[in-house]
Amino acid sequence: MVCRVCRGKAQVEVKSRGFALCKAHYLEWFVKETERAIRRHRMLHPGERVLVAVSGGKDSLALWDVLHRLGYEAVGLHLELGIGAYSRRSLEVTQAFAKERGLPLLVVDLKEAYGFGVPELAELSGRVACSACGLSKRYIINQVAVEEGFRVVATGHNLDDEAAVLFGNLLNPQEDALVRQGPVLPEKPGLAARVKPFYRFSEREVLSYTLLRGIRYLHEECPNAKGAKSLLYKEALNRVEKEMPGAKLRFLEGFLEKIQPRLKAEEEVALRECERCGYPTTGAVCSFCRMWESVYRRAKRRHLLPEEAQFQPRVEPVRVG
Ligand code: AMP
Ligand code: ZN
Ligand code: ZN
Repeated sequence: MVCRVCRGKAQVEVKSRGFALCKAHYLEWFVKETERAIRRHRMLHPGERVLVAVSGGKDSLALWDVLHRLGYEAVGLHLELGIGAYSRRSLEVTQAFAKERGLPLLVVDLKEAYGFGVPELAELSGRVACSACGLSKRYIINQVAVEEGFRVVATGHNLDDEAAVLFGNLLNPQEDALVRQGPVLPEKPGLAARVKPFYRFSEREVLSYTLLRGIRYLHEECPNAKGAKSLLYKEALNRVEKEMPGAKLRFLEGFLEKIQPRLKAEEEVALRECERCGYPTTGAVCSFCRMWESVYRRAKRRHLLPEEAQFQPRVEPVRVG
């Protein structure tokens, strides 16, 4: 296997696209390909300030690295979710990465901010952990972005993540979810834009970049992800990909380019301000505030919180570096 560019010994085979590259040319290709995706979908303005949601996994650390190299003013945001040793180690690798490179990092600790981490939150709200966690991440990341004056948030979602979501939304057809899915969610009043610059890279391609760049990341998966449907969908899609290289990318891009534009855009639901926190919601009180208010009620009944405890939606991120 030789590098497509320099004919030297190839290090990475990009099977889905039918070429191989040496280390130097792979690192160069990966950064340029990210920039192409950003330009094509107008995700970021040149040099724009962007809040990068960083979990400590390979995808979001690689994203932070690439956005910084491309000259964006990339500020990290990590949420410490209180999922035992997994969350502690996630914070550690994220902080180490920021420190080594002198990058600014904001941290929100769920337990410190609201009194409970994900496991207790799930139990007290009666939701499955991933649902309570997902809702908290979306809400807090957006609130920090808006309060800190960021127009846009970037996440490390890759092709495998996006193809698995599409697969799930087709297996269990959800028109509104299919209409919304994509690499860019535009900003609205009270909602920062959300972009996924890695949506065309497979998990393996991101991993190759992370390893070749020598980025230290947390290898373990969230313990709550075990048995998640998304893992089954990823496995199924990877079996197809193995027999038909490029299938995952064609599946996602084909949908986004050819099918999504023909789906009738759902009538835009009117958003109004949540009576508790002021952030956009379709009802009177947003789902984040509703979840926490019910958690506080239940926690008081169980004497886990004093009677006078009041749920406060506003968080104050801690600045590290
Ligand atoms: P996941 O749903 O865990 O695959 O994560 C998808 C993306 O969400 C990651 O690439 C990050 O950009 C972001 N993310 C996940 N967990 C966290 C976290 N604890 N703090 C900040 N961002 C996160
Ligand atoms: Zn080369
Ligand atoms: Zn609210």
